[in-house]
Amino acid sequence: MQNVDITIVGAGSAGLTLAALLAPLNLSIVVLEQGSAPDLSKVSHQRVSALNLASQRLLSHLGAWEPIAASAAPYTQMQVWDSDSFARIAFDASSEGVAALGYICDNEQIRLALYQQLHKLPNVKFEFNCSIKSLVQSEREVLVNINQQQLLLSRLLVGADGINSMVRSSMQLPLTHWDYEQQAIVATINTAEAHNNVARQVFLPDGPLALLPLPQAKQCSIVWSCKPERAAQLLALDEQGFNQALTAASNSVLGVLQLHNQPKAFALTMRYASSWLQGRTVLVADAAHSIHPLAGQGMNLGLMDVAALAELITQAIEDGQDFCEQRLLRQYERWRKAEAQTLIAAMEVFKRGFSNSQPLLKLVRAVGMTGMNKLPWLKSQIIAQALGNSGDLPKLARPASRYKVSV
Ligand SMILES: Cc1cc2nc3c(=O)[nH]c(=O)nc-3n(C[C@H](O)[C@H](O)[C@H](O)COP(=O)(O)OP(=O)(O)OC[C@H]3O[C@@H](n4cnc5c(N)ncnc54)[C@H](O)[C@@H]3O)c2cc1C
Repeated sequence: MQNVDITIVGAGSAGLTLAALLAPLNLSIVVLEQGSAPDLSKVSHQRVSALNLASQRLLSHLGAWEPIAASAAPYTQMQVWDSDSFARIAFDASSEGVAALGYICDNEQIRLALYQQLHKLPNVKFEFNCSIKSLVQSEREVLVNINQQQLLLSRLLVGADGINSMVRSSMQLPLTHWDYEQQAIVATINTAEAHNNVARQVFLPDGPLALLPLPQAKQCSIVWSCKPERAAQLLALDEQGFNQALTAASNSVLGVLQLHNQPKAFALTMRYASSWLQGRTVLVADAAHSIHPLAGQGMNLGLMDVAALAELITQAIEDGQDFCEQRLLRQYERWRKAEAQTLIAAMEVFKRGFSNSQPLLKLVRAVGMTGMNKLPWLKSQIIAQALGNSGDLPKLARPASRYKVSV
């Protein structure tokens, strides 16, 4: 039997960031991952995330930002429009006094950069290709049975194991969920015209299509959310048919668009665990909540969860207190639930507002969006939220943070 301070289940962006934040505290940490170790050969821009400035600051503190940025593209403008009306809004980094509104980053590169920081540390151990047989909790410990024969006894267990979290289901933490009745088609595409580092999103009647700039001037990543029947039709098209449908859906904003790799579809579901903790087990990131990708906020939200949890654990250790105390874990849950609930509600308003073709609603959103576009103060408030420059941020993610850690 192995005794450790913290077991983290899941070596995705959230699990690895948490390990990197906790490692300097000299806690013994084990990360359990069912898949393989992060792999340079998988860095292909097949799956990307728009990271905001709060996430960038957090990853910079960990020394992981430089390798992530090397294969990321900054976006300096954002253009959003409605295919069905004159509604249009645009945001510009220069008006906000920042170099970029965010960065389109390769998901695997994020994992790789964090793993490279962690894998040589003596107090952080990894178990890849690992299978969890059971989780049992007592008042003071959590016992994990891995790979049939290994037993791991931890003071705290963190479920960072994504949308279908086995930690969440093993602990019978109740889940609220609804189907967005959409699938997201994800692919890398080549564009006839240069993207000029503009992130674009058009709201179509059955869902948004995002064109996210990649490091090459004429390459973007698409996230095309649409009804499942439409997604099935699109995926059944031959390459030429798909390219034509995609170019038409984009209003030819970047000229003719062509697939660069095979598109993949992801079912979109809102999930929200109504309790994120039980005894010495706590959930973070997608294990606790998942939202529609239309505002590109899911990973940002998860990274702020782990930064918040790490901040409270650090504070408790500095104060000579038990970092597994219920009071502390409840504080984490309250803090982050408030942020997650706000985003879930906002995604619902966007999704419902834009997928409704009622003439009156179309007029209201066109007038609302175009009016908002002319109000710099209101636009700055909205963009500050999207940039991760407002809200109740963990210290390490705040602008001009004075707090530094190194791994
Ligand atoms: C189409 C799409 C586009 C998106 N775009 C954006 C965007 O632009 N910006 C943004 O911020 N967010 C975006 N997101 C959301 C973002 O991808 C997720 O929020 C983020 O990847 C979640 O990270 P995570 O570490 O919580 O979970 P994951 O990345 O899912 O990692 C969980 C890890 O746990 C492991 N695991 C699972 N079960 C077990 C088990 N039983 N035992 C051991 N290991 C286990 C998995 O193998 C995995 O490695 C998007 C999501 C989708 C679907």
